[in-house]
Amino acid sequence: MADHHILLLGPPGAGKGTQAKKLCEEYDLDHVSTGDALRANKDMETEYGTPRSFMEAGELVPDEVVNEVLETALENADGYVLDGYPRNLDQVEFLDDATDLDYVFFLDVGRETLVERLTGRRVDPETGENYHVKFDMPEDEEVRERLVQRDDDEEDVVRERLEVYEENTEPVIEHYREGGDLIEVDGEGAPEDVFERLTDAIEDDD
Ligand code: AMP
Repeated sequence: MADHHILLLGPPGAGKGTQAKKLCEEYDLDHVSTGDALRANKDMETEYGTPRSFMEAGELVPDEVVNEVLETALENADGYVLDGYPRNLDQVEFLDDATDLDYVFFLDVGRETLVERLTGRRVDPETGENYHVKFDMPEDEEVRERLVQRDDDEEDVVRERLEVYEENTEPVIEHYREGGDLIEVDGEGAPEDVFERLTDAIEDDD
């Protein structure tokens, strides 16, 4: 089987990161996440300032910075699941020149669910694992006590991120839809159910 090139699109909180991890395990692929890469380099000095200032405000990091991050990540990946990029139409063009895609998925999730998922999300700083205050808390008390909230998961920043998504990234979804490449998947419900919908679509095609 050739290595898949999978793109996961969807609003913040749609479950792209969660599903990307599962797909990488299932198909032995690399996870390319511009959000993760930027979080690991938040204080990197660039001519536009550091990524941190944009991220904490829920705004997009300038294309020049993100494109470089993406290029480096793709160079080191064979098969991959890409999440968090492209977020605007210029990034679509950059991606198009950089690689080809086998599957473009859109995880469809309603706005109320997004806000609930994002504001309730907690991260284990030691493992990077995501949890949720209502749906998925760790059993281990030590882990429970060290969970933190991402700065950009606070409610006012979440609202800003959703607005930035509507303005910049919805046209990206439309672009792939018009090209006939978009596979729309219901992203509501348990992660295992969403995962099954994704793998069914991949396996139907193989
Ligand atoms: P994420 O983890 O994908 O939600 O990304 C977190 C934050 O990183 C975003 O709110 C942006 O500030 C920044 N970011 C991630 N990917 C991109 C991208 N493709 N273009 C611009 N900014 C990005």
